Amino acid sequence: MQLSAAAPISSLTCEQALATLQSSPQGLRSEEAHNRLQRVGPNRLPPQRRRPLILRLTDQFTHFMALLLWAAGGMAFLARTPELGWAIWSVVLINALFSFWQDFQAERTLAALTNVLPRQVRGWRDGRLQVLSAEELVPGDLIELEAGDQVPADCRVIEAAALYLNAAVLTGESLPVVRTAQPQPQRLRTSEATNLMPAGTTVAAGRAQALVYATGGDTEFGQVAHLSAGTERAPSTLEVQVGRIVRTVTAIAVSMGAFAFLAGVLLVGVGPVESLVFAIGIIVANVPEGLLPTVTLALALAVQRMARERALVRRLSAVETLGCVSVICTDKTGTLTANAMALQTTWSSDEPLLLLAAGLCCNASKQVGDPTETALLQGAQRAGLDLEQERQRLPRQRELPFDSERRMMSVLVQWHNDPRWPQASAWMVCSKGAPMELLQRCSHWLRAGVITPLGPAERQLVSSANDVMARQGHRVLAIACRPCDQPQLEEQDLVLVGLVGLYDPPRPGVSQAIAACHRAGIKVTMVTGDYGLTAEAIARQIGLLDAPAHAGPDPVRVVNGSDLNRLSDAQLRQLLKFRSRLVFARMAPEQKLRLVQAYRALGEVVAVTGDGVNDAPALRAADVGIAMGRSGTDVAREAADIVLVDDNFATIVSAVRHGRGVYDNIRRFILYILASNVAEVAPFLTMLALRIPAALTVLQILAVDLGTDLLPALGLGADPPRTDVMNQPPRHRDQPLLDRPLLRQAYLFLGLLEGVLAMLGYGLTWWSHGISLPQLRNIAPALLHHQASAELVALQHQASAVALGSIVFVQAGTALACRGGNRLKPNALLWLGIATELIAFVVLQGWPPLARTFQMAPIPSQLWWWLLLCIPAPLLAVQLRTTWRAHHHGSSSVMA
Ligand code: ADP
Ligand code: MG
Repeated sequence: MQLSAAAPISSLTCEQALATLQSSPQGLRSEEAHNRLQRVGPNRLPPQRRRPLILRLTDQFTHFMALLLWAAGGMAFLARTPELGWAIWSVVLINALFSFWQDFQAERTLAALTNVLPRQVRGWRDGRLQVLSAEELVPGDLIELEAGDQVPADCRVIEAAALYLNAAVLTGESLPVVRTAQPQPQRLRTSEATNLMPAGTTVAAGRAQALVYATGGDTEFGQVAHLSAGTERAPSTLEVQVGRIVRTVTAIAVSMGAFAFLAGVLLVGVGPVESLVFAIGIIVANVPEGLLPTVTLALALAVQRMARERALVRRLSAVETLGCVSVICTDKTGTLTANAMALQTTWSSDEPLLLLAAGLCCNASKQVGDPTETALLQGAQRAGLDLEQERQRLPRQRELPFDSERRMMSVLVQWHNDPRWPQASAWMVCSKGAPMELLQRCSHWLRAGVITPLGPAERQLVSSANDVMARQGHRVLAIACRPCDQPQLEEQDLVLVGLVGLYDPPRPGVSQAIAACHRAGIKVTMVTGDYGLTAEAIARQIGLLDAPAHAGPDPVRVVNGSDLNRLSDAQLRQLLKFRSRLVFARMAPEQKLRLVQAYRALGEVVAVTGDGVNDAPALRAADVGIAMGRSGTDVAREAADIVLVDDNFATIVSAVRHGRGVYDNIRRFILYILASNVAEVAPFLTMLALRIPAALTVLQILAVDLGTDLLPALGLGADPPRTDVMNQPPRHRDQPLLDRPLLRQAYLFLGLLEGVLAMLGYGLTWWSHGISLPQLRNIAPALLHHQASAELVALQHQASAVALGSIVFVQAGTALACRGGNRLKPNALLWLGIATELIAFVVLQGWPPLARTFQMAPIPSQLWWWLLLCIPAPLLAVQLRTTWRAHHHGSSSVMA
């Protein structure tokens, strides 16, 4: 099966090429294909090498934040506080491991999605056209390619109809080039031979039958072309934003540390070493080390959730953009409708001839191919026509493939004077296409067995027959023929045979999804190549247009491609701005692009669906390009940010919901993390302000920081979306992640509450032992300089334990408050985090060895009730605030 070097495959005739690869015009036999697959291996590129795990682990120890913490730990050792040094270094270690684990999880999640959507090809095996996975192709396979397909392996063209190839991936040349089946005598490079199609290139127009001659790593340019549909891992704007937040908060932490150091030395009179220790503690407590990996993992989990609901994300940044989508421009056929087309009505005086001509003008088989065509073939079969047999008797000579600009397709067949046509004829052109377009190419009409000229009155008759069918939501095709003596394929002077009406019912669930969009403040605009009346009928059936208030077309909401051409850009923007429910019919792909650009010029965030080869520019121009996984072309999929596995409109809406949900969750866990930071500096600030002893030691602060920030924060980030995320208008694209309301809520409300409760707990403990604030002030210097009595030290340890406990318990409530209500499921990770945190605290203060290290004493039973009260406190406070705000401002969100 090795090709001899003397005769390159491009120089052979088609028969020779088939013979060399031991194949046949019927394709390979399955067993033979199976054997070859065993020998040459799957048609897949060798996997790309990734950065080794060990290096990715060490990355976690060497980024900016980690270096800062290493230095802080080192300073603690210099300050002769080795426990603190070790503690800080263990913070670095634990954080690095946790971050590494999160990154690893995120990557694994995204990598798993690559395999969800195997690439498929139509190929001949055992003489039948079948759907094969691209990976099982072997040399010798005979495959069918059409506009928009990516060439799955190196192929030799066997049959070509108006075939153009786009080889930009290999040559950089973006203009399509012609490909034919003719042998090429000279020796040429693969990308230059006009009868070869290298793997990775795409079919720009036309149709081909092609013979696979090299697969997988053997393909010439296989290494260059990326055949995978994997998720791209460029940092998303959200991650960049969070990175910036982390740096800002770090800067604040460091300046607070510096302030603490100076204030400690100059105002309180603490020794420089002790002040330094305190300053380090403040810095470490406030640096949000874990934020970025948690954001990444939250995004990855959202991507995974979307995949489960049948939307594959190809670019991580699409997740957050989805959350701000304000307009969805959607296809009709297959997206809003079920793509289960069926022949419903015909309008013709000769139905068998109508179905014969339609059937001859199809490339699909009854199961595989364009749904419009499979519906026609199945209809013909039901009417008793055996098209397999007819195709053999009336073999096809040439084809003008369908394209969405002409909106028609024609074939030339050998007619052999078949008596089903009123006059004898050697050849016959059979055409099918959009009625009004095809009617323009017709000069006659086959009426009751007689070929009569088409005058204006007859044209009017056909046109109104078309409208009657279209108004019921039918997709109408006209069928026409043209007898000829010479094998000439021209779409001129045709004889109209009749009309067929195909019905494609709306998808179940689409009406609800459209209603959900309207509730969520998202405009839905239908953009279709189909006829205006058909589009309008379907739009009403799914609630995209209101039910008909009056009979007749709605000129304001249904715009035809030709009308659109007459509108200036300014007029188009006016229309888009003031009308929310619109249907654009008979649209060409470049008009779709214009529409997307007009919406974007209005500041809308646009999601657009596409499936055709010409949709790629619109998909790229949109904020979120969405391609169809089933019916879409490879070209559209490559250009898209998201691929819908089931082609379903409702899937877009659920993806938007997840996009909004993850953003909402990320804000919630940032709120949670920032709130705890206030409580961690509160003891120090109170020490300065009231001149009492510091309620917490640095070691204790680190303990809370690790205990509260990791698991519960991840739990908040990984939550499924709230049920009410789709009841609000889309957020503005430029809205910062950390806005004033969030900061106010974090620092001035939840944070302050937590700090106050912690300090109350501290004071309460002293008070329960009969020591008032002025007395506490008096004993402060002794405690500070380690000259206090053992009894006082024990009391200080107990008060510290209560202060720390207050923070831990309030954080538990804060986590629940940040999560908020309106969730479908309980969050196991969050509860696990909260439980771990509470148990860890109980052990820390109750188990003597640990308690000693962390300078705590067991909490007496009469103070536990105080800690228990701390859990509901933030929940109650948030509830009161929400109620109050709803009363006064009409806003009712924890996040506002
Ligand atoms: P859409 O998918 O949005 O309905 P298309 O561009 O696929 O738009 O189709 C536009 C029109 O072209 C259809 O309304 C139909 O009249 C015609 N058409 C569609 N598919 C075929 C086909 N395979 N052969 C001939 N005509 C077709
Ligand atoms: Mg279509």
